[in-house]
Amino acid sequence: MKLKVLFVALLSLQMGLQAKPIKVMLLTGKTDNYHRWEVTSPYLKATLDHQKVFATDVVLLPPPGKAFDEFVPEFSKYQVVVLDINMPEWNEKAKTAFVNFVQKGGGVVVVHEANNAFQDWKEFNQIIALGGWGNRNEKDGPYYYWKEGKYVKDYTPGPGGAHGQRVPFVINIRDTEHPITKGLPTKWLHQNDELYGNLRGPAENIHVLATAFSTKETGGTGKEEPVFFTVTYGKGRVFQTVMGHTGDDYADSVEDVGFQVTFARGVEWAATGKVKQELPTEFPTETTVLLRKLDQLK
Ligand code: ZN
Repeated sequence: MKLKVLFVALLSLQMGLQAKPIKVMLLTGKTDNYHRWEVTSPYLKATLDHQKVFATDVVLLPPPGKAFDEFVPEFSKYQVVVLDINMPEWNEKAKTAFVNFVQKGGGVVVVHEANNAFQDWKEFNQIIALGGWGNRNEKDGPYYYWKEGKYVKDYTPGPGGAHGQRVPFVINIRDTEHPITKGLPTKWLHQNDELYGNLRGPAENIHVLATAFSTKETGGTGKEEPVFFTVTYGKGRVFQTVMGHTGDDYADSVEDVGFQVTFARGVEWAATGKVKQELPTEFPTETTVLLRKLDQLK
């Protein structure tokens, strides 16, 4: 009898765990003239849905105007917020709600252009650790990159944010023991993308998981640049990936299986501090990209 009760209790516990997906807010919308949220956000949503551990709500920012000025996303309903946005300013209520959310342990995932946002918002820049453009320069913090086996904080004056041509590049995993990267190949080719470089920011509580070399021949910085990393802020966990540039007629960066896998693992880690997703059965190699288009993620 006792065993039966225990069995029923274990069964309901297991069912409870299975039935409780991680709540994700994917915050998106037209917020700059360079990035195509209509192209990117379906991929981000499908990539998360594919893992069957997330319940993702797409929250669309209203266009600039009164509705935008008064819009405060309901962050506290979620475990993690994915930022697929880039705007210079936000209303005070939204900013306060966002910082409180992260302070209390809410997760944040920063995708590509989201690190261009909010140049003058101090807490946001602490949360993302590194950003680019929006007139960022030496006043915002050092450059941060990998050189001769270690990370360098470089205080040389100059603009923050650069990228060369949209080309494939090799990702070098720098921490093979972190839950996000554990078990993944340590080098793999990422499909055509803007490799962000010369990012600047407070660079506090940052932990780089992977870098890539930005070649001068393709208009890059000539440095080994961070491509995805974690940050801690208050009780919150942050995952930033600089990958994910899309255009009206191409989405190959977010079709890349390496992007999809690290993004989905980063979202789970930011939400829970763990990664329970199984390792992928197929992955790009150092010389061959591997793509999974929208209909293959269904
Ligand atoms: Zn871009």
